[in-house]
Amino acid sequence: MSSTHGLVFTSARPPPRLERQRLYVCSLTWKVNEMISVRFLGTGGARFVVARQIRASGGMWFRFGAEPGPVTQIHVDPGPGALVRATSALPPCEPQALDAIALSHKHLDHAGDVNVMIEAMTQGGWKHRGALLAPRDAFEGEPVIFPYAARFVPVHHVLEERSGPYAVNDVSIRTSIRHRHGVETYGMHFEHGGTTVSYMPCGRFFDGLIEDYAAHRPDVLIVNVLRYRDSLDVDHLTFDQAREVIAGVAPKVAVMTHFGTKMLERKPDTLARQLEDELGLRVFAADDGWTLDVTTEVAAVAGNAAV
Ligand SMILES: [Zn+2]
Ligand SMILES: [Zn+2]
Repeated sequence: MSSTHGLVFTSARPPPRLERQRLYVCSLTWKVNEMISVRFLGTGGARFVVARQIRASGGMWFRFGAEPGPVTQIHVDPGPGALVRATSALPPCEPQALDAIALSHKHLDHAGDVNVMIEAMTQGGWKHRGALLAPRDAFEGEPVIFPYAARFVPVHHVLEERSGPYAVNDVSIRTSIRHRHGVETYGMHFEHGGTTVSYMPCGRFFDGLIEDYAAHRPDVLIVNVLRYRDSLDVDHLTFDQAREVIAGVAPKVAVMTHFGTKMLERKPDTLARQLEDELGLRVFAADDGWTLDVTTEVAAVAGNAAV
């Protein structure tokens, strides 16, 4: 048994959720400039889920830093409905304040609203600003980023395998090994103020995937988990494979998102708690509109581990 900040924990497992709320108070020593949050504007994955909007598909809105200091905002994978989800969020995510838009790959559930988000970021093209990060096949060939819209954005980072770092203000972004997913697909590692948040987008499980992400030692790992348990030969992780990934990468905090029908039937939140018990890591299942407070979650886990 051990204690920290007046709280008592009996094992190496993360503190129970109620006690964790109290622990947050102790993490206020974090510098404001180092704060990171991720708002989930969509957590749906499979075609059926997205087509019916059983879960939304607006991607993730990263915020690095906090007022009154500098804030860098990056919208990742703006799928169908992203603009509506962003502007109707409370408090709203303001596209005109975006610093970058990033695509892991060009599939529609990740890129359906990319052009409308570019127009919103650049105020209809009147104010050229920001950066675009996407694989080459999103810009060229049969592009999902319209060339006219791309011209509104002065900085283009064409993503390649294990490339970077790409700087967006004081955020540094590196890409992962290439995913096995039909079109060019890369994960992204966002580093800011000593904290790394890694995003593992869609793709088939293969040897080397875990090692590649583990090498970045992410504090937070966001994983797309489309399937529950099946023997389909498709380019997406199952829940069992996600468990293997999370255990192997061993972040302080893991988040599952991008759910298909079978995952939703199994109640992702219940599965997250099951993984949390099994692995001794903090595990969340993202929900539409939910904001992950990276700074306090990582601090809470670090505080527990330090005792
Ligand atoms: Zn895809
Ligand atoms: Zn997808």
